[in-house]
Amino acid sequence: MPTDGSKGSARDLAGPSPYPSAVERVIAALGSLPGIGRRSAERLTFHLLKSDPEVALGLSRAVADLKNTVRHCPVCYNLADSGDVCGVCADTKRERGRVLVVEQPRDLIALEQTGMYRGLYHVLMGRLDPLDGVGPGELTIDRLVARLDDPGANAGGVRVEEVILGLNPTLEGDGTALYLNAQIKSRGVRVTRLARGLPTGGQLEFANRAVLADAIQGRQSME
Ligand code: ZN
Repeated sequence: MPTDGSKGSARDLAGPSPYPSAVERVIAALGSLPGIGRRSAERLTFHLLKSDPEVALGLSRAVADLKNTVRHCPVCYNLADSGDVCGVCADTKRERGRVLVVEQPRDLIALEQTGMYRGLYHVLMGRLDPLDGVGPGELTIDRLVARLDDPGANAGGVRVEEVILGLNPTLEGDGTALYLNAQIKSRGVRVTRLARGLPTGGQLEFANRAVLADAIQGRQSME
C-alpha cells in the first residue's frame, strides 16, 4: 500500500499483472463495467477461458453488434436496429395519438414492463440541467415538437392528441416538465403527467411495476 495517501487502482497497488496480456486486458475490460470488481472480473475471465470457444466468441460478437447495429429510433429515440424504427413505433396496434415522454431508454423499458401502456414514447436523451450546461438544444425536444406539428413525423402519420410527461421526480425533471408543458400547450395538444406515486428524487427506472402502473393509470392534467 502506498503510504503517501496517493490513489491507485487495485492493479497499481498489486504490482505487475501475473497474467498474460490478453487475459489481463479482458480482466481490465470487464472490471471497468459498473458493479464488477476485479475479483468478479477475474472469475468471469477464467470462466471464458475454460468455456467452449463459441461462448466467448458469441459474447464478443454480441458486444460488437451492440455497438455496430443498435441505433436510436428516428421517430422516438428508443433503441432500434440500425435503419429501422423501433419495435414500439413499428407496432400498428399501439395508440399512436398518445406519446409518453421519458428521459432515457431505460425508463421506457421499465414502463413497457408494466404492460399498462399502449401508446408511443419519446425519449429526450436526458433532462434540462442548466447548471450542467444541458439546454433544450442538447435534448431531442425539437424532434418531439416536430412530431406534434407534423403528423408525418409521428409513427404511422397519426396526429398526436395527448402528451404524457414521464420525467423523473427530481428538480431537473420537474423543470423539464414545466418547459415542455409550455411548448406543448401552445400547440393545442393535451398535456398530462404521471401520477405522483414515485418518491421525490426517485428514479423511474427503479420503481416497481405496480407503482408505475398506478402512475400511468392515475395520470393528471397539467395546469
Ligand atoms: Zn420509436
